[in-house]
Amino acid sequence: MTSPTPVKVTDRPSLDKELLRIADVCHGCRRCFSLCPSFEVLFKGLDVPEVDGDAGKLPKEVLDGFVDLCYECKLCVSPAQCPYVPPHRWMVDIPHLVLDARRVRGAESGIPLRERLLSRPDRLGALSRPVAPVANFVNTLPVARWALEKAIGVHRRKSLPTFAWQTFTRWFEKRATKAPESPVAKVVLFPTCSVEWNRPEIGKAAVQVLERNGVEVAVDYPHCCGMPYFDVGDVAAAQEARRGLVAALSGWVGKGYTVVTPGPSCSLMMKKEYPWLAPGDEPTARLASATRDLCEFLMELKGKGKLVTEFPKAPASVACHLPCHLNVQRIRHKASDLLALTGAKVTVVEKCSGHDGTWAMKTEHFEESMKVGRKLFDGLLEAKADVVASDCPLAGVQIRQGTGHPVRHPIEVLRDAYGLAPEE
Ligand code: SF4
Ligand code: SF4
Repeated sequence: MTSPTPVKVTDRPSLDKELLRIADVCHGCRRCFSLCPSFEVLFKGLDVPEVDGDAGKLPKEVLDGFVDLCYECKLCVSPAQCPYVPPHRWMVDIPHLVLDARRVRGAESGIPLRERLLSRPDRLGALSRPVAPVANFVNTLPVARWALEKAIGVHRRKSLPTFAWQTFTRWFEKRATKAPESPVAKVVLFPTCSVEWNRPEIGKAAVQVLERNGVEVAVDYPHCCGMPYFDVGDVAAAQEARRGLVAALSGWVGKGYTVVTPGPSCSLMMKKEYPWLAPGDEPTARLASATRDLCEFLMELKGKGKLVTEFPKAPASVACHLPCHLNVQRIRHKASDLLALTGAKVTVVEKCSGHDGTWAMKTEHFEESMKVGRKLFDGLLEAKADVVASDCPLAGVQIRQGTGHPVRHPIEVLRDAYGLAPEE
C-alpha cells in the first residue's frame, strides 16, 4: 500500500515513488479507464495476476508505457473528470507528473535528437521558409519520408504542416495598418509558431476580424511560447521561452493591451503553464491574466455589446472541433458560440484529435494517434456540414488526414461570414 501524500519529483527515486502513488490512487478510482492509451496500459498492468492491484508490484515497462503514451491532452486534469486534482490533498496531476518523468529521463540520458529537432519550430520554420515550395514538395515524396522515418523516427504516413514562403509578421509589417481613432479595445496579437511559419492566413483573418470590430491591433512574435520544449521535458528551454515572452510582451500589457493568441496550446501555455513554471513571479502572472484565446476575446467583446453581428455571407453549417487544450482552460465553446452568431447551424464535436504537439508524428505513436482521433473524425463527417473548423492548426492537419476534409480556423470562417475577402 502506497501513501497518498504527494512526493516532490527531483530525481529517479522520487519519480518512481510518485508514479506508484498516482497509480494507486487511479487504481482505486478507475474513472479514466477508457480516456486514453496511458490509462489502458496502466489498468491492464494492474489487473494481471502477478500485480493483482498492488501498484507497488507494477513492472517498469508498465510505468514507462504510461508515461510514453501520454500525449498531454490534459483531459484527466479537468475538474469535471477527476475529483482529486489540486487543490485536493491527493494532488493528482498526471500531465505534470509525465513532464517531470520526461525531465528526469532527459537529465539521465539526454533529450533524444528527434525530440530536440521537433521541439524547435522556429528553427525548422527559419530553415524551411526560404525554400517553402521545395520543402513542401519534398515532404510529399515517399522516398524522402522513408528517409525521414529512418533518420529521426517521423512516421512516413503522417501528414505534416506545410511551410509558408512569407511569415505572418512579415505580411503585417508590409501591410498598411491604420489604428482606429477610438478603438473599442487594444490587442497585441501573439500569432503562435504555427501561424507564423505554417498558416499565416489564420493571422491575417484574425487581423481583419479584429479591425472589422474597431479593435486596434499590434503584432509581436518574439519566438515560440515554449510548449514544444515543455512537452518533451526540456524544462530549461521552456523556462527560457517563458522569460523571453514575458520580457517581450510585458511592455504591451503595461500599456493596457490584451495579449490575444489564436492557438489553444499556446494560450494554455501562457495562462496556465507559465505560472506553474514560475509560481509567484509577478510579471508572469500579469501576462497570464492579460492573455486571451482569440475566440474567447471576441466573445468578451460580444458580452460588452461591442461585437459587430451582421454577417452577410454566413455558411449554412459548420462542424466545429472543440480542442482539449481549450476544454482544460474552461474556455470550451467560444468558437462555436461565435460561429452560431452568424446564423450557421453549428455541430460541436468534443473529442481529442490525437495530434497533441509532436506526439502523432512519432513512428511508434502515429497509428495510435489516428485511433485516438477516430471518434472526432467520424463525428465531424457525420455532421455533413459545409465547413469543418478547429481552433488548433495541428489538430487541423490530423483531421484533414483522418477525414480528407479541408479544415479552417473559426476566425477564417468568421472573416468570410463578415463578407471580407482574404488578404494576400
Ligand atoms: S493528459 Fe491526456 S493522454 Fe495524458 S494521461 Fe491525461 S488523459 Fe491521458
Ligand atoms: S486521474 Fe483522477 S479521475 Fe482519472 S483514474 Fe486517476 S484519480 Fe480517477
